[in-house]
Amino acid sequence: MISNAFEEAQKQLNRAVAVFPISKGLRARMAHAERELTVSIPVRMDDGTIRIFEGFRVQYSSLRGPYKGGIRYHHDTDINEVRALAFWMALKCAVTGLPMGGGKGGITVNPRELSKSELERLSRGWVRALYPVLGPERDIPAPDVNTTPEIIGWMSDEYRKITGDKRNAAFTGKPLGKGGSEGRGAATGVGGFYVFDALRKNMKLPEQVSVAIQGMGNVGGWAAKIFRDHGHTIIAMSDSKGGIWSPQGLDPEAVEKYKKEKGSLKGFPGATQVSNEKLLELPCDVLIPAALENQITKNNAKRIKARVVLELANGPTTTEADDVLFKKGIFVVPDILANSGGVAVSTYEWEQNLKNEHWSEHDVLKKLRSMLERESKHVWDRSKKLKTDLRRAAFAIALERLEKALSAQ
Ligand code: NAD
Repeated sequence: MISNAFEEAQKQLNRAVAVFPISKGLRARMAHAERELTVSIPVRMDDGTIRIFEGFRVQYSSLRGPYKGGIRYHHDTDINEVRALAFWMALKCAVTGLPMGGGKGGITVNPRELSKSELERLSRGWVRALYPVLGPERDIPAPDVNTTPEIIGWMSDEYRKITGDKRNAAFTGKPLGKGGSEGRGAATGVGGFYVFDALRKNMKLPEQVSVAIQGMGNVGGWAAKIFRDHGHTIIAMSDSKGGIWSPQGLDPEAVEKYKKEKGSLKGFPGATQVSNEKLLELPCDVLIPAALENQITKNNAKRIKARVVLELANGPTTTEADDVLFKKGIFVVPDILANSGGVAVSTYEWEQNLKNEHWSEHDVLKKLRSMLERESKHVWDRSKKLKTDLRRAAFAIALERLEKALSAQ
């Protein structure tokens, strides 16, 4: 399957530029990645054979700082998808004011088909193939779908072995104790909650809301817990095989424990099974896509009943769906703002590594919350000023900052 995510990302850009014109120079730059690498990674499998995997790193924009962005392991990952994700990273770092550019990486692989040692050799192989273009001042990768702190720990270790750079700042999302930051694991889900909370009153939502979440990995899992901890009701959760629905509310820890034991959510007591498609259409206040791109499209947008879509996944809503939702009065809090907590705490991790410091979880989350509250309000105000949706408003702020960086060159 060839990803069309980059086409969607460029459509979003065109729509934003229509309400917030930018210079020809910036428009041209934002149409192309600065550098794209596709590499072959030979891996010795446990049976002694050699398999070649395809790996990627796209360095989209360094206008505002070193490239920054996660690495995705997925069987559908291709260069188009990685390019789109890298583009969004450039905008995400700009809309949050982080001193970073945008990049992204990936490997076309289903990690579940590999043993742990094969996965380690593959991850170290990605670093061996790409280390000359990485580094704390150049490009700092982080986790994304299917890349855990353990995997990032192997990568960081490999980078250190090859280069001798002991600062530990070339990768973020490392395990605690190996240079990782407090709060990094929870950062994307928790940051999504901070953005929601900053905008809740503007979006005219009640104090307690019902929430449906698609995807229960790092991002969806943490989002479920923090929303529940603040008195909200999680009515649905899912993994790639399907979901469960309970209008009375689900206990995220119990759902995660069940999945760990049984391998899926099938048969979870007291809940109704729902497909991932149906989950998106459930009546609720807040719908959180926290899995993959292209989930809300022109085909299902008219059936979405949520009052707000909080995009914790990257690129879950197509531009055609954006228009349908806007007409229905449904707010879409865009990915480049809503899920920016991850890259923010990754940047804090990088800063701690370079300064040889270790900040407390309290300090990390306080810094994150105050930044996200400020930038969320900024995006809201810009949407009012430009009389447009939150996505175009977030793009406008990001583009304004990228324009400043370009003119300072
Ligand atoms: P993850 O690998 O930890 O979890 C992914 C989850 O999605 C799993 O529960 C998986 O079962 C589920 N899933 C996979 N395919 C699905 C499908 N077709 N339908 C429904 N569910 C499916 O990944 P993650 O880190 O939680 O990332 C999730 C999303 O959040 C991605 O879009 C990612 O780019 C984005 N994101 C992640 C971070 C981060 O810090 N990890 C930061 C910003 C954005």
